[in-house]
Amino acid sequence: QQAPVITIDGPGGSGKGTICRLVAQKLGWHLLDSGAIYRVLALAAIHHHIDAKDEEALQPLAAHLDVQFSPDETGGTRITLEGENVTHTIRTEEVGSVASQIASLPRVREALLRRQRAFREAPGLVADGRDMGTVVFPQAEVKIYLTADAQERANRRYLELKQKGHDVNIGDLLSEIQARDERDMNRAVAPLKPADDAYMLDSTHKTIEQVLDEVLSVCEQRL
Ligand code: C5P
Repeated sequence: QQAPVITIDGPGGSGKGTICRLVAQKLGWHLLDSGAIYRVLALAAIHHHIDAKDEEALQPLAAHLDVQFSPDETGGTRITLEGENVTHTIRTEEVGSVASQIASLPRVREALLRRQRAFREAPGLVADGRDMGTVVFPQAEVKIYLTADAQERANRRYLELKQKGHDVNIGDLLSEIQARDERDMNRAVAPLKPADDAYMLDSTHKTIEQVLDEVLSVCEQRL
């Protein structure tokens, strides 16, 4: 019997990252931040001057990617690439954009499958991504598709960046979010879309607390 899995898929800024972390904490389960793997790969490609369309070169880079996730002092996760701490550098819009370009390449996705599935360990896994419920863990016990309006997601991202002291333009953020949605939803392989058996949750007018309660009650019903 394999460990149970809860998948939470959806577009960037829907609150997935926060909700997955809170659910994993609450249940004492493992957490897979699959987007971080694509981001680390994007950063490695940038470091090695590999073009985001060069599938030939990116496939081995993905297969041998030296990425580690380890707990940090504050209860968060430290992410390293070849031993270098990249926890914060992978969060920029630039890296996110390269990640979404690289993520459209079938052989890159294939090369990352086993690595993602290895996160499934007792007592259970909360998996955050775009294709967790459709491709990586199609047999997951609980599947949730979390969305929010693009404008609301841009607002959230704006406040988050502003708080960190970044000077950002909300119009630029909205166009970046829309471009990334467009790419993620329309790629040929593992596009962003709800699994047939996913519970649909729109977080546009909901607080983190409300979304968390709703997710936990779905988990209670289905686990
Ligand atoms: O979730 P996050 O914004 O960190 O993901 C970065 C990019 O990685 C996404 O825009 C998407 O293109 C890609 N991704 C993916 N499949 C996943 C997770 C992320 O294609 N499971």
